[in-house]
Amino acid sequence: MRKRILLLEDEQAIADTLLYALQSEGFEVRHVSLARQALDAFHDTPPDLAILDIGVPDGNGFDVCRTMRKTSELPIVFLTARHEEIDRVLGLELGADDYVVKPFSPREVCARVRAILRRSAGTAPVPPPASPVVADVLTLDEQAQRIGWAGEVLALTRYEYLLLATLLRRPERIFSRTELMSLVWGDAPHTADRTVDAHIKLLRAKLRARGVQGDVIQTHRHMGYSLRSHA
Ligand code: CA
Repeated sequence: MRKRILLLEDEQAIADTLLYALQSEGFEVRHVSLARQALDAFHDTPPDLAILDIGVPDGNGFDVCRTMRKTSELPIVFLTARHEEIDRVLGLELGADDYVVKPFSPREVCARVRAILRRSAGTAPVPPPASPVVADVLTLDEQAQRIGWAGEVLALTRYEYLLLATLLRRPERIFSRTELMSLVWGDAPHTADRTVDAHIKLLRAKLRARGVQGDVIQTHRHMGYSLRSHA
């Protein structure tokens, strides 16, 4: 059965690119441009996944998400245009499954949608029960701005901390270099791409030095980095 996707996006050009990309991947897409229409469509024919733009003429994607969440656990992906919106997506406990920052490539959106649907279908590889959960072993103390590994505090520089904390808040989510640059180096706008790679390398070395086996921070070709949630 074809998976149904509900797409809320008021910018026609963006909607067209996404429609084309998602339909080419075999998804059945219903596109609407108003919050009200999104909720009507959602109640009409419950989709398998919703992609919600945040700023729409008659409301916003956050409220649409909240209303959907009252009755449904469907996966939700936000399309965000501004970085303040990312903070809200991550901070508001809206139960969003992922987000994509504009401008994005339709391929990236499709990849995320496929990954989320795979996870929610329960066909993702299930780790053996004995595996320690990395997110549990690596502990994040936001107040003290410290990260611990197996109970011991890691000696990290400010940017190493911010980078690892960003990955740790969303294990398994792939962050692109551009996203990491703005989330971690937002106060240093002239940061080069390779700064991200250099810091990832330093973090890996520090984790290895503490006896961490294997690559906790994973590289995804052409996409970015993620934190593995299981050892
Ligand atoms: Ca919009």
